[in-house]
Amino acid sequence: MKLSENQQKMLQTLPGVDYVLELFKTVPFFENIPKTVIVNSIRKTLESRRKSILAADLSIDEDSLSDDRIIELVETAVKKAMALNLRHLVNATGVVVHTNLGRSLLPTEAIENIAFIAGRYSNLEYDLDAGKRGSRYSNIEDILCEISGAQAAMVVNNNAGAVLLCLDTTSRDREVIISRGELVEIGGSFRVPDVMAKSGSILKEVGTTNRTHLKDYENAMNENTALLLKVHRSNYSVIGFTAEVSLKELVELGNQHDTLVMEDLGSGTFIDFLKYGLVKEPTVQESVAAGADVVTFSGDKLLGGPQAGIIVGKKHVLDQIKKNPLARALRIDKLTLAALEVTVRLYRDEAIAVRRIPTLRMLTMNIKEIEQRASKLMENLKKIDAFRLRLDLIEHSSKAGGGALPLLELPSKCLRIQIEGLSANTLEKNMRKNSPPIIGRIEDNAFIIDPRTLQDDDLPIIESAFENVLKRA
Ligand SMILES: *Cc1c(COP(=O)(O)O)cnc(C)c1O
Repeated sequence: MKLSENQQKMLQTLPGVDYVLELFKTVPFFENIPKTVIVNSIRKTLESRRKSILAADLSIDEDSLSDDRIIELVETAVKKAMALNLRHLVNATGVVVHTNLGRSLLPTEAIENIAFIAGRYSNLEYDLDAGKRGSRYSNIEDILCEISGAQAAMVVNNNAGAVLLCLDTTSRDREVIISRGELVEIGGSFRVPDVMAKSGSILKEVGTTNRTHLKDYENAMNENTALLLKVHRSNYSVIGFTAEVSLKELVELGNQHDTLVMEDLGSGTFIDFLKYGLVKEPTVQESVAAGADVVTFSGDKLLGGPQAGIIVGKKHVLDQIKKNPLARALRIDKLTLAALEVTVRLYRDEAIAVRRIPTLRMLTMNIKEIEQRASKLMENLKKIDAFRLRLDLIEHSSKAGGGALPLLELPSKCLRIQIEGLSANTLEKNMRKNSPPIIGRIEDNAFIIDPRTLQDDDLPIIESAFENVLKRA
């Protein structure tokens, strides 16, 4: 391809890396930036300019190759390179345990303990009484037993890992009986049948999607049956003509045949949500009291702690699980332990747990408080531009999220926002590109903000984001 005279001239004008680097010696912004980052950013900027010239991009002229303009572009590239990829954002969706947005927020005291333990040596695997090597599980076992009522406990990386570890330990090459109504898929590709296959256990499904009876389990049992498994449906519900076997009945059946019974509770909670006007979610204490040999659940769903897979149950079973070499591959790290111990301890006083654990606080938040926040935000936004902003308070509902309480609609008061001359999609994109990003919902061509999941310092962020959008629009 033959280049035009103008293109050739511009290619000649394009400065070299060393020339631009020299320019930066005088720009204070670059003082604390590693030189490799600056050089890479210069290279990238010049390369993209060169490509634009070769592509005969009409937006490129001599002006866009000036020193000032190049400095500006490199500055943007450097800022991008220096910004962390994992960053804070504003959750305005009203989904409390939002799996894509980081699930549970930790209580302040758990955050402080992470920071404290992170920079210091600890007795992570050291038995201070015996003066020799200890187990990392022992630091968390006593409080988990105290709260759940179980004989023994341990913790791994997440609940998917906990289920895998328990099945691998109890049921490798043997049969696990599970109801067809409980062969669930949890978001992020956790499928109960696939995890069972990975553990080397043999899936024996019984019953139908909507109805499973005790005799279905009983008829399927034989000398190769290792386990009766109950899985919480988590993200869906079966309603209408249904029947399922309770954990208690399964435990009785298991006892008669000397067969282990395990429950994957999924989310797992230590408090009864019914007490707070929400729907019934089986508690960990109830599963333990019903006599399950093993119960597994997540640390960062309704429990409101860090990502972890918690296993509680009978001591003789837990002893086997702890010895499984797979446990080493799935082990929990010390920062998670530091956060989990503090979070679980808060459950010693339920009133304190509900106040101090953000997930619980948001789930049980009073509608009055939500309404106050929504009104305050509305008033502040009105001050920015009462003419172009169309603001309405609407009745709406929030969600628990995290594959928990799927049918629960938490009554909420949301702020419905439209900007004259701007589509809801464009507004949503602007909010998402804000720094920090603001993630909300779009409904009926409006941007919806649910105050339930907003944190204390989120209001000014939202206000300045709207100020910027309005300036540009
Ligand atoms: C969420 C869930 C899991 C996976 O838990 P993670 O902690 O996300 O690994 C497993 N089983 C059920 C029933 C769940 O709801």
